[in-house]
Amino acid sequence: MEIAPRAEFAKAIKPIDRRSVHQICSGQVVLNLCTAVKELVENSIDAGATTVEVKLKDYGTDLIEVSDNGCGVEEENFAGLTLKHHTSKIQDFSDLINVETFGFRGEALSSLCALSDVSIFTCHMSAKVGTRLVFDHSGKITLKVPYPRQQGTTVSVQQLFHTLPVRHKEFQRNIKKEYAKMVQVLQAYCIISTGVRITCTNQVGQGKKQPVVCTNGNSKVKENIGAVFGQKQVQSLIPFVQLPPSDDICEEYGLNPADIPTRLYTITGFVSRCDHGIGRSTTDRQFFFINQRPCDPTKVSKLVNEVYHMYNRHQYPFVVLNICADSDSVDINVTPDKRQILLQEEKLLLAILKTSLMGMFGSDVNKMVLNQKLIDAEGNFKTTFRNDAESPPLETRDSLSQNRSGNAKIAVTAARLRETFSLYAVKKSTENPNLPSPSHGQRKLPTFFSVLNSPDKETGSEKVDRSGKVVDLSRPDVIDGKVKKLAESPYSGGDSALAGSEMGSRSLAIGNHFNSESSSSSFGEESRLHDEGAQREGLERNGPISRAECGTDQRDRSGSPQQIPRYSPKVKRLKISPSPLETKDIQMSELLSQCDIPVEMARRTVPLEFSLNVLRDRVKKLIVQQEKKAEVLHYRKFRAKINPGENKTAEDELRKEISKEMFAKMEIIGQFNLGFIVAKLNSDLFIIDQHASDEKYNFEQLQEHTVLQGQRLISPQNLNLTAVNESILIENMEIFRKNGFDFVIDEDAPVTQRVKLISLPMSKNWTFGPQDIEELIFMLSDSPGVMCRPSRVRQMFASRACRKSVMVGTALNAKEMKKLIVHMGEIEHPWNCPHGRPTIRHIANLDLISQE
Ligand code: ADP
Ligand code: MG
Repeated sequence: MEIAPRAEFAKAIKPIDRRSVHQICSGQVVLNLCTAVKELVENSIDAGATTVEVKLKDYGTDLIEVSDNGCGVEEENFAGLTLKHHTSKIQDFSDLINVETFGFRGEALSSLCALSDVSIFTCHMSAKVGTRLVFDHSGKITLKVPYPRQQGTTVSVQQLFHTLPVRHKEFQRNIKKEYAKMVQVLQAYCIISTGVRITCTNQVGQGKKQPVVCTNGNSKVKENIGAVFGQKQVQSLIPFVQLPPSDDICEEYGLNPADIPTRLYTITGFVSRCDHGIGRSTTDRQFFFINQRPCDPTKVSKLVNEVYHMYNRHQYPFVVLNICADSDSVDINVTPDKRQILLQEEKLLLAILKTSLMGMFGSDVNKMVLNQKLIDAEGNFKTTFRNDAESPPLETRDSLSQNRSGNAKIAVTAARLRETFSLYAVKKSTENPNLPSPSHGQRKLPTFFSVLNSPDKETGSEKVDRSGKVVDLSRPDVIDGKVKKLAESPYSGGDSALAGSEMGSRSLAIGNHFNSESSSSSFGEESRLHDEGAQREGLERNGPISRAECGTDQRDRSGSPQQIPRYSPKVKRLKISPSPLETKDIQMSELLSQCDIPVEMARRTVPLEFSLNVLRDRVKKLIVQQEKKAEVLHYRKFRAKINPGENKTAEDELRKEISKEMFAKMEIIGQFNLGFIVAKLNSDLFIIDQHASDEKYNFEQLQEHTVLQGQRLISPQNLNLTAVNESILIENMEIFRKNGFDFVIDEDAPVTQRVKLISLPMSKNWTFGPQDIEELIFMLSDSPGVMCRPSRVRQMFASRACRKSVMVGTALNAKEMKKLIVHMGEIEHPWNCPHGRPTIRHIANLDLISQE
């Protein structure tokens, strides 16, 4: 048998007919529901719309319709609308660098035509009446009729993918997943599109339209986050504060700190606080943007999660991060959906991110707030504040310009101060001309982030610091790549700031307030001079304690008036004008000054007899004496009477005066009336309800440790939860299980039917049901991931605890009484029993009795 030569199999090379090419390629542009919706929403935003309405039928399988109030389409452009690679946005490749719109490839509408039945209703701003256009699969207009509508465009896409049978089947089979992905991407556009109201609804069959997500045209990204995820989510976030990469991290990424471009990236946004319970159990709310374009920068998201896990191992952060970069260092034209983006100097970006996030999560966030807000780079207190704590680039141009003119005049109101202290903000843009400026942002998008392009480059407030590095004065939080801590006193910048921090830690031993701003500002020049004198005296005396002080004081002697008053002078000062709030420090300072005197005497008379041990003993004795004195002079700690009307006052006093470890120190006096224990702590006598306190202990033990047994249902029960509640339940499954509930989850079932109850907690006289589940969901929506119990389970525990506990009428021996009191120190809220009865009350102070 003869084998035909290969050449005979090969056919002549010919072009594929255009129609087929179109169909083959379109499926690569519009891959799924998500891209279809995304492309249409992008077109609306590109058209300058301020409202965009997305309507879905059957999750988008039946219909996707996007309406906007944008500029509309001119009649002469009707034919070009749906032609492949026809766009109004760029003309040639060079325009791509400065492209300012989401779209630029001219593929979306033509692809949608090839994949579905498309009609467009549009009315251009210059047209008198709107037009309805129907297209065939090659993008040709098959019907064009006048159609009344207001300015704007509606694109309607029916039966997506029905021209590709295999894809169509797949699409319908996976619609729930596609839908979820689409919602997530839509949320990203909702978050970043300030000033645009985006709504999305879905209608299943003939059912009623269900809202999916919506925003209100807010001018701030933060408000958009609130509109999409609720205020609760907003409260859990901290603004991103950018730091230059630290030396360690540069090394980790193989970067040379010396040749790092300083203005390549500006990152703004919000991230979950890292406290446990604040984050999320999945990565479902992480949104990344490059020059305001939603995208999936894999390495960036991986890094953000890794850093978060260093501080909160079991959760994932909510993330909204917008990375602004010069458009010529970004390539958005990598994939047709433009979600993969190539970045120059990606390592630098990662290093900046890592340093900044570690700065935000690390050490003491609150101290940083204070520092950034109140102290500028020169070390002066700022007297004006931004009227919004949000990071500036997330604002619109209008609000920015208002800010610029009005800012200096804004008075520091109490409310603003509170906001200042409670939020953690980036410095205002007007003071921050040195941020990298992506010179050509997107056309639409710069309005969101216009500040970044703000011009004041030449006015730059850069200064060269002592080490020759350029210091950005507008960023007091950044010096040498390190975040200054509060301890680094506001009195000093640069080197002396560090000295300040050393001081801070040393002076802590004596009293915290040596560092506080208030104590320093109240001292006048006169007392300062006095201090210097005293200090010199101290130097001459050279006693063991004053020597230590002088060591740190060297700098002060030559010091300028702004220098930090060191602690030795302050000890004196405190003696001069003690304020009632500083009694503790005064005792200490008096103590120290009294220690000085014997040392001095010793040196003059019998210098060789001085011994540190003797001194130590004396100090000890003094402390004991002081304590005794303090005890006698102490204010009355407990004033509330044993009276139901004074329960709150009594509890407040107890909470203030008795710490948990004090219970173990209480001395048992005896039992009273077979129901109460009388105990003594120092001079105070207390009476403790034996039943109530044991009951509270048992109750808390049950609450914490009991795993309720569940009883299986004969058939699974549908709970009809809303989409949001379903996800809360799914995310907190463990807590439900501990409470005896169990469920089966069917991810593929329609929303509201994904969760079915299969097991309920069981206990002799108690029955539980779906209302207890709803209650738990409500509690968990407030504090996700935190162990909690439905109120009826609490009631059940309370009654169990009651039955378990020592009854009134039971005689107790000293050991048993001691045990009950020690247990009180282990209770979270020891002041009343689960039914609200008081557990402990103050009876009397023995000193007061004997004095009278
Ligand atoms: P691209 O967005 O990449 O330009 P598309 O296929 O998405 O390509 O859109 C083609 C053109 O149709 C756009 O360039 C724009 O001029 C016009 N267009 C699309 N949607 C709208 C809309 N909602 N409002 C006004 N014009 C639109
Ligand atoms: Mg487009």
